[in-house]
Amino acid sequence: MSIERFSLGLIGHPLEHSLSPQLHRTALQELSLQGDYLLYDIPPLPAGWADLDALFKKMRSGEIQGLNVTIPHKLSVILFLDRLTPVANAAGAVNTVMQQENLLVGDNTDVMGFIADLQRQIPDWLIIQQKKDRTALVLGAGGAARAVVYALASSGWMVWLAARRPKQAKDLIEDLKRKSSDQILDITPISFEQNSIQAIAPDCHLVVNATPLGMFPNIQDNPWPEGSAYPKNTFIYDLVYNPAETALIQAAHQAGLQAANGTGMLAEQAALAFEIWTGKPAPKEKMLEVIVNSIRKLP
Ligand code: NAP
Repeated sequence: MSIERFSLGLIGHPLEHSLSPQLHRTALQELSLQGDYLLYDIPPLPAGWADLDALFKKMRSGEIQGLNVTIPHKLSVILFLDRLTPVANAAGAVNTVMQQENLLVGDNTDVMGFIADLQRQIPDWLIIQQKKDRTALVLGAGGAARAVVYALASSGWMVWLAARRPKQAKDLIEDLKRKSSDQILDITPISFEQNSIQAIAPDCHLVVNATPLGMFPNIQDNPWPEGSAYPKNTFIYDLVYNPAETALIQAAHQAGLQAANGTGMLAEQAALAFEIWTGKPAPKEKMLEVIVNSIRKLP
């Protein structure tokens, strides 16, 4: 049955700075599809229970075709769904909800979005390196780190995970390994300290910042330990995208390294969700353009 009008949206709180409506409305327009993308600002559970319940009932009835999910609901929505994709299950979080055979299914497009953008951005020398050993250092062990660590480890990367709270990294790794017992995931926790990071950094081909350090308004913050040399032959990927040139990216460029911010991942994860809901190839370049232009206008 072809859908005549796509009713899409984002659940989260707070949502006033979200770029998603502009992004998805542009994509609908580009493909000449009827529809809209609305913001559903719902407080965390338990206060938001009735609102979430009502929204997912609308989705079951076919009134809504697709929902994105962001902080603080990436875990709580699981209570309202019938099943998770293997990726969402391993990542332990849902950012996209779809209808499949009358079931509500939770997916996580951050995982594939990160890998897709990394493949687009990664320099040629690292592609050659990828055929051999590949070692990454991920800074931070929260929600985004979880998607990144799973994306890298399940694609064969050896991952060091640096967290300021060692238990957070240990719990993340144990949970990922338990939920992906059919895969061998090579992930090792280290502390978020100069000595530990300096010891392993020279062997890393990729460093990913998955902390909010450097994000507006604290644009001076740099997650790389002060006074530590940047590793050579390393690609720096900063998940932060506001500002576009973070303190980490500036320092990486000064050290002669190639670096990318999180706009590509943002565009890729949105494009993947759009394709899941509409069944049509997303206008990715146009979506990336919307993000880049919107970020320029952010405070
Ligand atoms: P989160 O769940 O709050 O996790 C943040 C992680 O960073 C936690 O491990 C936190 O440790 C750690 N951290 C915070 N401040 C730190 C500090 N001063 N020193 C060391 N570690 C610190 O946040 P998230 O959802 O993972 O998001 C992280 C960043 O990624 C945000 O800037 C977000 O905008 C960005 N992001 C980008 C995309 C994209 O598409 N580009 C997608 C998702 C997220 P504690 O728990 O101890 O505080």
